[in-house]
Amino acid sequence: MKLHEYQSKRIFAKYGIPIPKGDIASTPEEARHIATDLGRRVVVKSQVLVGGRGKAGGIKLASTPDEAERVAQEILGMNIKGLTVRKVSVDEAAEIQQEIYLGVVIDRAARRVTMIASAAGGMDIEEVARTAPEKIIKVLIDPFIGLCDYQARQIAFALGLKGDQIREFTAIAGGLYKAFLDADASLAEINPLAVVGTGELLAVDGKIVVDDNGLFRHPDIAAMRDADEQTSSETEARKFGLSYIQLDGEIGCMVNGAGLAMTTMDIVKLFGGSPANFLDIGGGATADKVAAALRIILADLNVKAVLFNIFGGITRCDEVARGIVTALHQVPTQTPMVVRLVGTNEEEGRAILANAKMQTASTLVEAAQKAVAAAKGEEYVPPPPPPPVVYKPKKIKLAQKTKPVARKKTAKKKAR
Ligand code: GDP
Ligand code: MN
Repeated sequence: MKLHEYQSKRIFAKYGIPIPKGDIASTPEEARHIATDLGRRVVVKSQVLVGGRGKAGGIKLASTPDEAERVAQEILGMNIKGLTVRKVSVDEAAEIQQEIYLGVVIDRAARRVTMIASAAGGMDIEEVARTAPEKIIKVLIDPFIGLCDYQARQIAFALGLKGDQIREFTAIAGGLYKAFLDADASLAEINPLAVVGTGELLAVDGKIVVDDNGLFRHPDIAAMRDADEQTSSETEARKFGLSYIQLDGEIGCMVNGAGLAMTTMDIVKLFGGSPANFLDIGGGATADKVAAALRIILADLNVKAVLFNIFGGITRCDEVARGIVTALHQVPTQTPMVVRLVGTNEEEGRAILANAKMQTASTLVEAAQKAVAAAKGEEYVPPPPPPPVVYKPKKIKLAQKTKPVARKKTAKKKAR
């Protein structure tokens, strides 16, 4: 789960990281009030869960409360990379002299939490890593010891920081690492960590991504979830305990089991199709859950065909079939559907689906081919049977018979 910039920065502040003064506004009037209270030049920033807001025009400076109100008016409602801006932050504007990148991530290959820094901050760090990898500083952190001050100082030296900045930086790096650990984060990032006019360091932007599997330990963070920021299908899927990820293909997939779901997507690709989603309905899915899953799949307007791949182990095929029938009552559709049901209660499942207009398949290959054809609006043509294998024995030329040569007794003895 991604946190907004203002949420991330408020968490950082609890760890002693300096952030600009400011507040959050949902209307231009609120933005004006905050700017009035701050009583100086402000920066108005869109709060959407994507990077590159600056380049997209979602960050603007304002010298007066009037101007703050005007730019907030412009930014609120703006569409940035598909997300509508509903909130802006109004912060004291910083006089930025240098922009540093500072982030904490998990390096899976090294099996360590890693601190990454670069004097070439502000911009996209992936871009720096690509074009100028030598400008990236990386420090692996021992999980039992944590980030040591000497490691933070090494980073500070490499960044070219001087005097008091080194002590400030050490405190910020330690705070960021602690914030990362405490939140069960997969990323904690300050970009830019600005060197401001007076030479001090200030976290101008912040980002935290929390590991969803750790959220149950952090009800306070879980409560920060912004329902506006998710597509309604993802919210709906979460409600029903479905693992759903929307993709941009045209074949909706409903599968039980994550591994089988991935295989299904691969096979769809293999036969020239493109999956519209990843969807794992999980083991022992009830009719309710299946119906919700089908509603979610059909809500995606790109979907031209739906492929069900159910391997009934704990999941019972008849229960899945009932779910499909229920969903088809709720959401009448013309979208072609292909179903492969095998395993527990498959006969009962097929009987329930007999009246539904669905193509059936006995293998995943056949199901995928049928779904790909259906999505293209084509008739499924079964592949021609392979040509019969005719066994033609090769003529073997027999070696000419020769008379065996009698061995001499003496030779035999010598060999021994
Ligand atoms: P992002 O584009 O979504 O990463 O948003 P940032 O908060 O990182 O802002 C993008 C850029 O806007 C920064 O790299 C700065 O160059 C500029 N910026 C942001 N806040 C301020 C500020 O308070 N003062 C000044 N002068 N520039 C700022
Ligand atoms: Mn940034």
